[in-house]
Amino acid sequence: MRSRAPRHLARPGTAREIHGCWGIPRLFGRGTTRMCDVVVIGGGVIGLSIAYELAESGLSVRLLEQGQIGQEASWAGAGILPPGNPDWARTAEARLRAASAQLWPQWAEKLESQTGINTGYVRCGGLEVRLGSPPSELAEEAEGWRAEQVAIEVLSPDDVRERFPGVSADVTAAYYLPDLAQVRNPWLLTALRTACVQHGVELFTGCPVTSLERNGERVHTARTPGGDFSASHFVIAAGAWSRELIQQAGWRLDVQPVRGQIVLLERLPLPFPCVVQSGTRYVVPRRDGRILVGSTEEHVGYDKRNTSAAVSELLAFATSISPELREARFNRAWAGLRPYVNQGRPFIGCIPTLTNVCVATGHYRAGLQLSPITAVLIRQLITGEPVSLPHDCHRYGTHHDRVS
Ligand SMILES: Cc1cc2nc3c(=O)[nH]c(=O)nc-3n(C[C@H](O)[C@H](O)[C@H](O)COP(=O)(O)OP(=O)(O)OC[C@H]3O[C@@H](n4cnc5c(N)ncnc54)[C@H](O)[C@@H]3O)c2cc1C
Repeated sequence: MRSRAPRHLARPGTAREIHGCWGIPRLFGRGTTRMCDVVVIGGGVIGLSIAYELAESGLSVRLLEQGQIGQEASWAGAGILPPGNPDWARTAEARLRAASAQLWPQWAEKLESQTGINTGYVRCGGLEVRLGSPPSELAEEAEGWRAEQVAIEVLSPDDVRERFPGVSADVTAAYYLPDLAQVRNPWLLTALRTACVQHGVELFTGCPVTSLERNGERVHTARTPGGDFSASHFVIAAGAWSRELIQQAGWRLDVQPVRGQIVLLERLPLPFPCVVQSGTRYVVPRRDGRILVGSTEEHVGYDKRNTSAAVSELLAFATSISPELREARFNRAWAGLRPYVNQGRPFIGCIPTLTNVCVATGHYRAGLQLSPITAVLIRQLITGEPVSLPHDCHRYGTHHDRVS
């Protein structure tokens, strides 16, 4: 399919957001609904970004969400956006990260100017620390950033005490990435949803896709309890729930949910202005005094409950990073289910056995940071434009097992 000239933004009142797919027969008449260019399945950051990008390029798009828009992993995340340098990134993962990092400033600016909604995108910097281990422990990581020509400052414990007095005096190794950014993911999701509606995307919430109907090498219909949706192309962006849909399309990708718990504290003034990370744990200060402490990695199926063990471990981590946080107000805790596949690397590409189905899932800990590049790659694949990154950057491994 070739890209068409962008359409005008939908006029107020013509754009549609429809809750509950039981009303679909009334909207479109009984039987198969009207055709559109693309049906996107899943209303998280990945599905919304793709729908927005496709609609902006002039395609007619419907997005089907089983629950509410942007209430799963994409809402639960911390919004950390690491830097990257596309000219020097060498590994497949680094090239994908770097390509997205380069897109982020203009992506956020465009969303904000089109919708008037602040995404909270800000280049806040990131401090990586170790407590108790020798500086050599971070040497290899620091070398990796240097090799990519990403701005980095290796800091001594004295440097950390001087520049970040709110950070624990027990830090023994550290480096600082001034170009690390963050986004307020709930705000980003609101902006994306608004931009989708402005560009004529029809959003159907409370509308689970229960099966995909195939004819030879094509999927022709997405079935929902309220009616059928036909399209020239389908995109599966159903996060941790993608595996079954992919299987229905006749393919296999073993996407698993991995729970991540977060604790929300509140304190002003903030103990430090930048994100502070130590391996997989982090403290993310928001400008309004909210402080996110995350996050766990738990293979517990589709269970989104918080546990006292994880909450107390995260609180202990927070106070080890900054003793000042002992006085912070505890607001609440939550958990989200990250989509995990193939050692945490996403699959962004076409199902090789079908001609009209793309998959964008498995973003694991990086779905917010990789959302702009994911949207661009899927748009390029659907419109037939040259794809801006080589295959191994976004289609990992050999997922070519045919199910039926
Ligand atoms: C605690 C935590 C912290 C994180 N921190 C960061 C971070 O700092 N930076 C970062 O980049 N990433 C972070 N992530 C990861 C990031 O949040 C995820 O990778 C990303 O949200 C995945 O987006 P998604 O759209 O694929 O999934 P989701 O947001 O889960 O969206 C999938 C959607 O598909 C819908 N769906 C499923 N099945 C169907 C169906 N059959 N029919 C219709 N709809 C369906 C679901 O209801 C859901 O709304 C974090 C995640 C967690 C949990």
